[in-house]
Order: sequence, then structure tokens, then C-alpha cells
Amino acid sequence: MTKFEALGLNDALLNAIKDMGFESPSEVQEKAIPILLENESDLVALAQTGTGKTAAFGFPLIQKLDANSRTTQGLILSPTRELCLQITTEMQAYSKYVKGLSTVAIYGGASITEQARQIKRGAQIVVATPGRMKDMIGRGLVDISKIDYCILDEADEMLNMGFYEDIKDILSNTPQDKSTWLFSATMPKEVSVIAKKFMHNPTEITVGTKNAGSTNVDHEYYVVSGRDRYPALKRLADANPDIFSVVFCRTKRDTQKVAEKLIEDGYNAGALHGDLSQNQRDLVMNAFRKKQIQMLVATDVAARGIDVDDITHVINYQLPDEIETYTHRSGRTGRAGKSGISMVIVTKSELRKIRSIEKIVQQNFISKKIPTGIEICEIQLYHLANKIKETKINKDVENYLPAINEVLEGIDRDELIKKIVSVEFTRFSNYYNKTKDLNSAGNEQGSDRGGSSNGSVRYFINVGEKDGYDWMSLKDFLRDTLNLGKDDVYKVDTKDTFSFFNTDEVHTEAILQFFTDFKLEGRFINVEISKNPGGDGGRGRKGKSKRRGRDRDRGGNRGRRNDSSSSKKSSSFSGKRRSKKNRSDFF
Ligand code: ADP
Ligand code: MG
Repeated sequence: MTKFEALGLNDALLNAIKDMGFESPSEVQEKAIPILLENESDLVALAQTGTGKTAAFGFPLIQKLDANSRTTQGLILSPTRELCLQITTEMQAYSKYVKGLSTVAIYGGASITEQARQIKRGAQIVVATPGRMKDMIGRGLVDISKIDYCILDEADEMLNMGFYEDIKDILSNTPQDKSTWLFSATMPKEVSVIAKKFMHNPTEITVGTKNAGSTNVDHEYYVVSGRDRYPALKRLADANPDIFSVVFCRTKRDTQKVAEKLIEDGYNAGALHGDLSQNQRDLVMNAFRKKQIQMLVATDVAARGIDVDDITHVINYQLPDEIETYTHRSGRTGRAGKSGISMVIVTKSELRKIRSIEKIVQQNFISKKIPTGIEICEIQLYHLANKIKETKINKDVENYLPAINEVLEGIDRDELIKKIVSVEFTRFSNYYNKTKDLNSAGNEQGSDRGGSSNGSVRYFINVGEKDGYDWMSLKDFLRDTLNLGKDDVYKVDTKDTFSFFNTDEVHTEAILQFFTDFKLEGRFINVEISKNPGGDGGRGRKGKSKRRGRDRDRGGNRGRRNDSSSSKKSSSFSGKRRSKKNRSDFF
């Protein structure tokens, strides 16, 4: 007995499952299918995108329907045309061995009369977007007064898109005694309201953590000034040469503008938003699926139906107005067991939102720095070297080799390599030469930490011998306070009123985070990354560092913020104090 058989599915479905190559049920399928097969009750199922929800309701629905009757018995509501079509295709594949069963898709942007004709021929299952469904009910083109099952798929997205009233209207045309199955990735308030209002004692199943974003996704944020959003986006793309991403903007206008700029700047980009015709959108989506487009710039609404599995990065060019929408965005990556990165470009004033989103996705964001020009040049260089190594030789070049060899005659291997990589390197280095650091304060962790070498980071801490520490007791104190292992803190060097110590880079984030708000005997303990690996700072320096810190705290930092070179030169400390102010800004 296969695992699918054990769930109680019949042969027609088991054969289709075999054809589709599904080996074992996913968790949500394992939990939902037996319940739905055995009971006539309502169900709320929460599971992330890509967990196989379609089959979780599709299999039981198909098994429970009467294929001999032509009456419409099941209605599936889904937020977008793409999802609607996708579900229809899946339902047709699942029911291929069920004679007489017909699934029809109903969605906007296509001929309503043709859809009405298909319904008239008899469709036991109707898959619809709320807007078109309401339209067709109004015109008497579809009858859902006898359905037994109503499925609200991606309920959170439907509500996000403002379909609440439409759904309410549609449901008022369905019988009281039907079963309602609600599937959703997240459970915001609006969804629980629907569940309460339209469902009767629903069984609730949850896969993974309720409300949590996909755990395959790392969340990163980059703090820049508002006018640097676009150059920051470009750098993120350049620093990830194999990027395959969706870039989210807040408005259709920004979406179009950013896509146009990217194309102008030579990126494989495309725009996806509601002002495009359906045909234009199809073209863009097809190009994206074929990876001819590497950066798909999209609005939230237009991106809803994107069902592409191997998106490497989601880039939040702007944060969404409703922070709950963030989960839908980040859920576009990290699908089908792959890992993904969701990057957020934020301004300092938006950092508060990051903290709120952390609570929703139940995961911490990593503060990252926009790569510098030289870092990008390096990345591109290694990328090129690897690409050359991996490139399959095209037989057709053989014909040209004699001529090419003649041109390149007398250049030895070393020189040739230098020349080849210089082609790319020069292009980037010319572009990035003398470009500024795009990072705003509030973004402490990064590549220019002077104390970092070989993955080891040196810190300054404002406690020393005057506080009763020697290197051994300070080491113990740090290890215990930070909950680190025996050898994780090293090179502890105590001075009069301050000290230095090292840890591996992996701990840096946590350490800086920890000490942003740490008091010892009523005194703030300040830990900064030392710019000086030797750690030979003196008293005067420390005083200076403090003064600088206070200046910054008063907001005298605006004009200087981008002048990273001056702050690099003028002190052996990275001005960690800044972050104290920024932290308090968060809450
Ligand atoms: P969700 O609605 O939860 O986002 P889908 O139902 O769209 O997820 O399923 C995601 C992908 O996984 C689809 O390509 C689907 O065909 C595939 N899939 C679903 N169930 C299984 C399974 N049991 N084994 C293998 N693949 C599956
Ligand atoms: Mg789905």
C-alpha cells in the first residue's frame, strides 16, 4: 500500500497520482485528505506556498463528486487568473481517469461568453476568480445554488486583494449546508473573520508554524537613503550575477519606471503590473519562466499568481504598505525545498517596519551592507572565471580558430587570462570607480569592518582594568554573558578603562546586537568593531570616539552620512554608538 492509498484515495486518483510522479503525500495532504474524505465538515488549512495545497483539496473534492451528474458541485475561488488556470490544469490532471468529470476555469480578461458556454456544457467543478464569478452570477451565466463544496484557496491573498465583498456576495448564492474548505498561507485577522462568519466549527490544521514565512528563506535588509534605492538595487543585482528574482515595487508607476531603467542599464528585466494588457503580461511571464528575464519587476497584485519555483531572490525595492503582504512576497522564493533570499531596501525611517515584519515571519532579519564597487568587481571577476571554466565549447568556433590564433599569436597563457578577465573587470571597475558607499547608518554589520581578517573580528569594549577585569576574567565574563563556547573569545587584551577581544565573524551580528542595549551595574556597555586589528587604541581615542558618537546622536549626521571615507580614516572605532540611537528609533 502506498502512502497515498493509506489516505483512502480511490484507484482513479491513485493512477493519476502515479502518472504525475508524486511519490508520497506532502504534510498538508496527509493531514487534510483523510479528514475531508471522511467528514462533511468545514476545514481551515494553513500551509506555506508550495506545500501542495491544491491536491490537498483537489483529491478529496474529485473523489466526493458525482461525475454522473452534470450539476456544478464544487466551486474553487482563487485570487488570480494565473492561479485559476494553474488549479484548473491540476484538477484536470488529477481527474484524468474519472469519466465525465469536467473542470472549467472562470477568470477576467477572457471571453465571458466562451466561459459561459463551457459551463453550460456541464462542469462539476468551477475554478474562478471572485470578480469574474460575481459578474457571471449577476448575469445568470452560472448556477452555484447546488454546490456541496466551496473552496477558498489562498484566502489571505484574496482578502489582501480586496475581494472580501465579492466573496461574501458569491457565498450568499451558495447553499447553507455546503462544506467550506479554506486554504491559506497565513492567518491574518481578516481570514479568521471569514472563517468565523462563513464557516461552522471548522477543523483547523496547520503545517509548519502558523503565520511564519518560509523557513528556507533568509531575510536581509539594506539601509540606504531614499534617493539611493535604484543604485542599491543595481549593486545587489551586480553582486549576484546569477540572480533570478522578483523585484517588488509599491505602485504600477514605480514598477514600470524601475523596469525601464534596468533595461536601459543593460539588465534582463521586465515589468509586470495591472496597466499592461493580458497579452503583454503573458509575454513577460513566459520570458521570465524561460529565464530570459532575470529581474521581474512587479506590483504585489500582479505577482500573486507567479508560480515559478527557482526564484533565487525576492527584492523589496520598497516595502509594501501592508506589512502582512511581505510574507506573500518572500514566499515567492524558497519554494519546492530550495533556499532563497528576501532582500529589503529600506531607509532609516522604515527600520521600525523591519522589526514588525520579524514578528510576522518569526525570523530575524540580517542587517547587510550594499556591496562596494570593488566588492562587485571581485565577485564579477570570479564569476567570469567560473563561467569560463564551466562553458561548454561550441564546436562552431573551430572554424574561426586559425584566424583567432593568428590575432592572438605571441600572447602567453598568463597574459591571455589577464586580458580575458580584464574585459569584464574593466567594465565594472570603470562603472564603479569612485562610486560612493550607499549604506546609511543603522547598518553596522558589513564588509568594511577593519578588525576583520580571516573571518576573525576584533572588538573594542568600554570596560577594562579599572572595572576590575583582567584578560582572564573579562574572557569569562564575555563567554558567559554571550553564551559562547570555551574558545570562542580570544586575544583578550585589557587596558585601563577599555579592552579588546576577538571572535570569529559568525558571532559578530549577535554580539553587536546584544550590546546595543546592555547595562552592567547601571552603566551602558559599549562594544564596537575595532578598525585596528592590533587594538592599540589609547585613552584619547576613546574620548574622541565618544564625542563623535554624541555629535551623531544629535542628528548632525545627515550631511556626513555618505562620506564613509572620512569616518574610516578618522578613528580606530567604527562609531558603533550610532546604532544605539538607531535601535531606539526602531521601537
Ligand atoms: P500550494 O498551493 O501549497 O502553493 P501547489 O499545490 O501549487 O502548492 O503545489 C506545488 C507543487 O508541488 C506543484 O508543482 C505540485 O504539482 C507539486 N506537488 C504537490 N503535491 C506533491 C506531492 N505529493 N509530491 C510531489 N509533488 C507534489
Ligand atoms: Mg496553491
